[in-house]
Amino acid sequence: MTSKYRLIWELMGGQRLRYGAAILSLAIGSAFLYLVLLVPQATLDVVLSSKPEQASPLIRGVVDRLGGADFLRANLWLALVGMVTLTAIAGFFTYLRGRWSATASEEIVRKLRDRLYDQLQHLPCRFHDRAETGDLVQRCTSDVETFRRFLATQIVEIGRAIIMLAAPIPLMIALDIRMTLVSLLLVPGIVIYSIVFFRRVRSSFKKVDEAEGRLTSTLQENLTGIRVVRAFHRQEHEKEKFDGINGRHRLLDYRLYQLMAWYWSVSDFFSLGQKALVVGVGGYWLLEGTLPVGTFYFFLAAVTMFIWPIRMMGRVLTELGKALVAIDRIGMILEHPRESASAVRPVGSLPISRGAISFDCVSFTYGGADRVLDEISFEIEGGTTLALLGPSGSGKSTIANLLLRFYDPQEGTIAIDGHDLAGLELREARQKISSVMQEPFLYSKTLRDNIRLGRSSAREGEIHEAATVAAVHDTILEFEKGYDTQVGERGVTLSGGQRQRVALARALVDDPTILILDDALSAVDTETESLILEALRRRKGRQTTVVIAHRLSTLRHADKTIVLEGGRIIQEGTHRSLLAEEGMYRRIWNLQTALEKGSLKNLESVVEAIPEQGQNDE
Ligand code: ADP
Repeated sequence: MTSKYRLIWELMGGQRLRYGAAILSLAIGSAFLYLVLLVPQATLDVVLSSKPEQASPLIRGVVDRLGGADFLRANLWLALVGMVTLTAIAGFFTYLRGRWSATASEEIVRKLRDRLYDQLQHLPCRFHDRAETGDLVQRCTSDVETFRRFLATQIVEIGRAIIMLAAPIPLMIALDIRMTLVSLLLVPGIVIYSIVFFRRVRSSFKKVDEAEGRLTSTLQENLTGIRVVRAFHRQEHEKEKFDGINGRHRLLDYRLYQLMAWYWSVSDFFSLGQKALVVGVGGYWLLEGTLPVGTFYFFLAAVTMFIWPIRMMGRVLTELGKALVAIDRIGMILEHPRESASAVRPVGSLPISRGAISFDCVSFTYGGADRVLDEISFEIEGGTTLALLGPSGSGKSTIANLLLRFYDPQEGTIAIDGHDLAGLELREARQKISSVMQEPFLYSKTLRDNIRLGRSSAREGEIHEAATVAAVHDTILEFEKGYDTQVGERGVTLSGGQRQRVALARALVDDPTILILDDALSAVDTETESLILEALRRRKGRQTTVVIAHRLSTLRHADKTIVLEGGRIIQEGTHRSLLAEEGMYRRIWNLQTALEKGSLKNLESVVEAIPEQGQNDE
């Protein structure tokens, strides 16, 4: 069994009995539908016929058991009652089939959605780096729906086609073997044609489905970046891009429908041909006098009944093709390995308590050829502050990403309080490490709920304390609804700086052992940033802080500063020691001090002046 069939089988776990019951109901319902046909057949060939001996012994036996031909001829209404009763019984079983297959499919899909959502929460960042959000959404919605439709209607249809065809065969053989052969002559052709068609549909649908994924992705990207699109007058360009993708989707969809139309016409030809064969050959034997009229009627009606589900095999196989594509796409999410959550820590020992961090010869790449971090080694004490400095792209955020174990380094070890980070349980490690990003995501909830997200059990006082350290408490109180202010989607009703400060409060409320501020105060004015860092310093010893920022004036109190360039550490020390040596730190410091003093006439003059400028201590 290939993986997708195995996955379908596995997902059906717990519901297989229901499906079995649905298929059994279907078989019973179908059997009753054929029994309905036997009533007029027996009436015509035995009860009303002048030559009842021509009818098959099976039918004559049944008529005898029901009271004999004379009795039934005198009570013809019994045939009507018989047909109605048998049809009603068939209808009841059809209802049971529908009910059980619908319940089973809904239950399977509910489980599937839960599994998908859970899996998405646990997939490594590398997976999300490569995946397009819109495509993931499409897999979790449209593909799941395709699969649901298949489970709800088509699985049972497969059973139906087989049963509808298989059920009357013994009856047909008992009635007339020649007519049985004539009735089934073209059936293998229809089945083979359906299978060939199924393969073509599967590849065509795969293209349509992928195009739909791209459509969703483009839409999602456009909506997320709507401000950028407007600001750069990119509406026309975006529209053209969407038109192109939409046009391609339409073309592929059109091809799929064309394929279907072709299928229906050919299979109609086969189906009608099969019926015409029964009418022609049966009619000939009827006129010849070797086929009783009731038996002729039975075969004609039976072919009409089973040819329909067989013709529907095309649709069933089409849906199977689509479902297999969908489950393949869903399977790619479900079967992707999760983030490793290894735990090799001895039971009972507290892994992270002080928050001392050490990097030992850590090298890392996101998958490209170049190393993003190249043999990085440093150590900091628990409860102190580390500042990371360096040009954009030098690897600062990557250090933060590794600490949060969004990624694992290819070489070297990262240890916290002497424990290898790779050996700590992911959940536990992340509970102790909080981070604030440059563009924090806030939920469409109240400010209180957003902050409480850091720790759901946080009391009001603790929320206020965290907000005070993050210098946002007073701002929040100025809002009409205070902490009950609702944050708009993606926090658009707050300014960038306010959002960053709320996110900081959210990180602080959990009292993290390690706090990472990744350009987290970039939208906050210098004065407030200094206030916040000062407040964090007053908590000294309570947490280890790793700050990535650009304004040196706010970083100068850090216990240790590391200057990175191209993924390597080029300078390391305290503010004083770094100012004392020639290098990037002193150059940036001089530049920023000149800017702050307003003594800068133009950039070049300062850059030129840097080598001549002496030490500029506090
Ligand atoms: P900094 O924070 O110093 O600006 P980063 O650590 O964000 O630098 O990035 C370092 C390098 O890694 C850059 O060249 C960047 O393009 C690359 N990079 C960052 N994130 C990813 C990612 N998710 N996938 C691939 N490359 C990345």
